[in-house]
Amino acid sequence: MLEAGPLNLFYGDSHIIQDVKISVADGEGVAILGRNGAGKTTLFKGIMNGGPKAEGPITLRGEDVTGLPAFARARRGLGLVPEDRRIYRHLTVAENIKMGRHATRPGTEPYTLEEIFGFFPMLRDLQDRLGFELSGGQQQVLAIARSVFSRPDCLLLDEPTEGVAPVIVQDIARQLAAMRKNNGTTLLLTEQNVWFARACTERLYLLDSGRIVFSGDWAEFDANPDLKTRYLAV
Ligand code: ATP
Repeated sequence: MLEAGPLNLFYGDSHIIQDVKISVADGEGVAILGRNGAGKTTLFKGIMNGGPKAEGPITLRGEDVTGLPAFARARRGLGLVPEDRRIYRHLTVAENIKMGRHATRPGTEPYTLEEIFGFFPMLRDLQDRLGFELSGGQQQVLAIARSVFSRPDCLLLDEPTEGVAPVIVQDIARQLAAMRKNNGTTLLLTEQNVWFARACTERLYLLDSGRIVFSGDWAEFDANPDLKTRYLAV
């Protein structure tokens, strides 16, 4: 589904992401874990082509998208839920969700609001509320729903549990699992919450100082307890 790298990403003279290679198969769930400042957000921005200067190839469903701007990558099936959520504060929840239609692939219909409320039931009762009236966790669910609305083949979630109450973290994990089961969406997420990452994915990469320091499934990760203490804030 998604092949990136070896990827090198720069902010000015700072070489933030160094020779990172990521691949995600169709329908797979993959996590990228790392401490604050490891480079997770920069990596996602690079995959979307939304900020850092990028060197290295990216293919999506076998198509080379390396030279394409972010909106063109979105219209080829790549959906990003950014860390800062970018909720339209003065639009309603329903209007926010429908803003996702701009990223729909040509020839594809977005989901209906009813279908979205089926995936994310808490949004049904909130649909007429304004963005700024929602809690942080509700805004996160809304940001995910807005991205899902355009039926991305591959959904990138940048630290979706950051600042979200534990009860909503569990809701999000359940809803993403149900959504993947129903429509086979491929998932790539960055996290510091190991419980959530494990609940949503089959395997993981560990990122440290802009480099991949481990790649494997959760059983391999568990077999190396050192990894947690060395590379994660747990
Ligand atoms: P966090 O969990 O805090 O979001 P992260 O793993 O997502 O961390 P990044 O935000 O990608 O990490 O930051 C990686 C490095 O890139 C940091 O050293 C950061 O200071 C630097 N960096 C991030 N954004 C910029 C920018 N716009 N300009 C210059 N340097 C940046």
